[in-house]
Amino acid sequence: MISDTPQEAAFRQKARDFLAQHAPAHTATASPAAADTTQASHTAQAEVAHMDACRAWQRTLYDNGWAGLTWPREFGGQGGPAWQQIIFNEELAHYGTSAGFLGSTIGMVGPALMAHGTPDQQQRHLPPLLRGDIVWCQLFSEPEAGSDLANLRTQAVLDGDEWVVNGQKVWNSSAHLSDWGILLVRTAPDAPKHKGITFLLVDMKTPGIEPRPLRQITGAAHFNEVFLNDVRIPKENVVGAVNGGWAPARTVLANESMVIGGSSARFDSCANLIALAQKHSQNTLPRIRQGLAQCYIREKLLTWMGNRVQQDIRQGRRPSVDGSALKVFWSESRRDKGQLAVSILGAKSVATAAREAIVVAPATEADAVAPPDTEADEEIALWQTEMLNRFWASIGGGTDEVHRNNMAERALGLPRDLRVDKDKPWRETSRGM
Ligand SMILES: Cc1cc2nc3c(=O)[nH]c(=O)nc-3n(C[C@H](O)[C@H](O)[C@H](O)COP(=O)(O)OP(=O)(O)OC[C@H]3O[C@@H](n4cnc5c(N)ncnc54)[C@H](O)[C@@H]3O)c2cc1C
Repeated sequence: MISDTPQEAAFRQKARDFLAQHAPAHTATASPAAADTTQASHTAQAEVAHMDACRAWQRTLYDNGWAGLTWPREFGGQGGPAWQQIIFNEELAHYGTSAGFLGSTIGMVGPALMAHGTPDQQQRHLPPLLRGDIVWCQLFSEPEAGSDLANLRTQAVLDGDEWVVNGQKVWNSSAHLSDWGILLVRTAPDAPKHKGITFLLVDMKTPGIEPRPLRQITGAAHFNEVFLNDVRIPKENVVGAVNGGWAPARTVLANESMVIGGSSARFDSCANLIALAQKHSQNTLPRIRQGLAQCYIREKLLTWMGNRVQQDIRQGRRPSVDGSALKVFWSESRRDKGQLAVSILGAKSVATAAREAIVVAPATEADAVAPPDTEADEEIALWQTEMLNRFWASIGGGTDEVHRNNMAERALGLPRDLRVDKDKPWRETSRGM
């Protein structure tokens, strides 16, 4: 446990006072479950209501001077040191309140605009982003460009004062609910793949943009395919240099894995699983006990690694634990917890899953049974969703394998992967056009 300096303790008390007054009213609606982008609601109305609740919590933070604690004051932030955000997050975790997806995008779009945007872009976009007035989505991944993002093929051609964009994106979280997007496009197909990409800001209402939600195994439709047909984007919406979009993209990606690795959701707590095992009289079974012990050990290790990183940040040092190590350890722990929950619930969870599937996509009218309505059913449905969803954290924000490559190179000093296409013109590479 890190002890506070007197200055930190005074700040913590202020945060506690604010949260005690404001957070409980938001806990039920803007729950943290969607902060990890996985537990989204099953109906379109519920998704919109959830997003509105996230906006409301962000607005409460902003109006009371708790949004953007480390952001410069000129962009609506508080200009404070990094330790203030750490302490505030620690206190907030007691309430389980969050701005959900909205909070994640603020943490990704904000730093990229601050580092690479023009003064006009910063003045126009940063304050409404921080207030939660405008929701942003990330239009990066494509069917053949995920881990190898620099292989993207959505094309933009300059026509007068506008870029004309054509192509397809995929896995774009909440794009169907977003007002603006950050978009990566290929503008120089003859340059090496990292050197022909441009970063654009796009109003999602521009003609030619069509988000198509993708329904997941959980029943939620959190992701989209986004089709772009002759979408015209003003040339002043370029962030950074034309063909220099990889730099702001890297800023977004670095912040994305921090946002994901640092998210705190109720399923992160091993105490929930212990309570579940006790409630269902599974806590005496050796197999379950071993699983719970593993879960407890991993949770403790994760906390200690997190504490080390926070200590480093508070004292202005470079974090001594590699970010990729933290992210992989966390995603593995999370996956194991989902698995253990279902072992505890046994056959009941499978029966509920089958019913959930019928409720979400009834094959016939007779199949359209009522959704779970008892408290017990809801509890099982929550854990079932977590189990079905348990791999998201191993993929979003960089897959576990890609983070293991990072660890091999950065932490262990092993040679880099061979990258034969690195310096070739993108058009000539096997997947070029
Ligand atoms: C919850 C969530 C939210 C997301 N939100 C967004 C979003 O808002 N916007 C957006 O643009 N994208 C989003 N994504 C997409 C995400 O960025 C990609 O899924 C991710 O980059 C992986 O790409 P891919 O799915 O194409 O898999 P691939 O890159 O095709 O990988 C397939 C498999 O190959 C492995 N692999 C790939 N390269 C290597 C390598 N060099 N070494 C070893 N193994 C390798 C991977 O680990 C994986 O197991 C989201 C994903 C998730 C899960």
